[in-house]
Amino acid sequence: MSTNPPNLRPDLAPGARIAETPRRGQPTLGMVSLGCPKALVDSERILTRLRAEGYGISPDYAGADAVIVNTCGFLDSAKAESLDAIGEALVENGKVIVTGCLGAEPDYIREHHPRILAVTGPHQYEQVLDAVHAAVPPDPNPYVDLLPASGVKLTPRHYSYLKISEGCNHKCKFCIIPDMRGKLASRPAHAVLREAEKLVDNGVRELLVISQDTSAYGLDRKYDLNPWKDREVRSHITDLARELGQFDAWVRLHYVYPYPHVRDLIPLMADAGCSVLPYLDIPFQHAHPDVLKRMARPAAGAKTLEEITAWRETCPDITLRSTFIVGYPGETEDEFQTLLDWMDEAQLDRVGCFQYENVDGARSNDLPDHVPADVKQDRWERFMEKALAISEAKLMAKVGQTIEVIVDDIDDEAATCRTKSDAPEIDGNLFIDEGFENLNPGDIVTVEVDEAGEYDLWGRLCSSV
Ligand code: SF4
Repeated sequence: MSTNPPNLRPDLAPGARIAETPRRGQPTLGMVSLGCPKALVDSERILTRLRAEGYGISPDYAGADAVIVNTCGFLDSAKAESLDAIGEALVENGKVIVTGCLGAEPDYIREHHPRILAVTGPHQYEQVLDAVHAAVPPDPNPYVDLLPASGVKLTPRHYSYLKISEGCNHKCKFCIIPDMRGKLASRPAHAVLREAEKLVDNGVRELLVISQDTSAYGLDRKYDLNPWKDREVRSHITDLARELGQFDAWVRLHYVYPYPHVRDLIPLMADAGCSVLPYLDIPFQHAHPDVLKRMARPAAGAKTLEEITAWRETCPDITLRSTFIVGYPGETEDEFQTLLDWMDEAQLDRVGCFQYENVDGARSNDLPDHVPADVKQDRWERFMEKALAISEAKLMAKVGQTIEVIVDDIDDEAATCRTKSDAPEIDGNLFIDEGFENLNPGDIVTVEVDEAGEYDLWGRLCSSV
């Protein structure tokens, strides 16, 4: 017979006050997590989501805009401890959201603490996020947040964001993230892997790795070794991705900068035994070296076309997504044309494009030769026309192929799915509009692609996998 070690026993596990240093002006929450590892998964998942939405986590209750108490109700002693924790948070802060096992007894909690803002039960993290949004509205900032503004809607249970680091050591002139979020601070590899393992154990089928600068992961930790299972894992993106690729879930890497060591990630994507998807979200921002220098971009001198060719040689199926800025201060027609020519060569699968705008506090505001609005609009339209033509041709080439998709949503008309080439919320979809009735969100199934549009595909269900 075996028993849980003391630190995993629900009645003995100490409450963890989860803390990190918030930046000035961030909406900020305090959190205490009581109880068993399952409760901790919920806490971690709530925190990952809140951090990605731009919330800070306060080291003390007094400095927070509200406090979440994740309770345990396993034994009377645990209930008493949970009630004490709620009481303490009410005294120190006043705005308290209760969740977790004891949340299954809302009347019992309200009898003791009528002033709490909201109560939800165990594993109801979506409702907790609703309560947080109501108590402390998010402050979406497209220049700083890792999720699109629409990302404030709730993440389905079958995929989850996995934040591996915060902040950035670079100083791109158009970006205020280093001022707002501070320097790179990577989580220990075993903490990331533990969170990933728990998410997968709880039904997550796709992990979306996010950070401000994913390729730089671990630099601040000097790529230290971390104990994980029977081995040690280096806090380096290649090692972390290799370990994440052992889980039974798709692993999608976002915000990977084109540093030379990205080459080491590509073999993982080509390895059938590794679940890291052949997908790179890599923000190039521009292709002309002078514009990149004026942006003060990391890897401004990188020979990106050569890198892309090398990646495709190793992993022919790789999908490349990127974002670009047109109309950056000083951008000449020649420089813009270089970007268009580069796109012809690079044939990226997915692109987003923004017209340059000043952002309060960005150093690019002071650069000379800002581009007039009508020129920016014209360049944006020409860029998007090219990107659309590339996307259409690439999708058309998939007609007739048999591929795996993950089901995101089902309604009366169709199952909305994504291929391995599509990240949620930013890329396209594949729709199955016949014989989809028995599918469920999170299923991974095989389809034959039978139609392509500008950004989306349609397919016929072959079989479950
Ligand atoms: S690499 Fe540049 S754009 Fe990205 S977060 Fe850092 S400073 Fe901002």
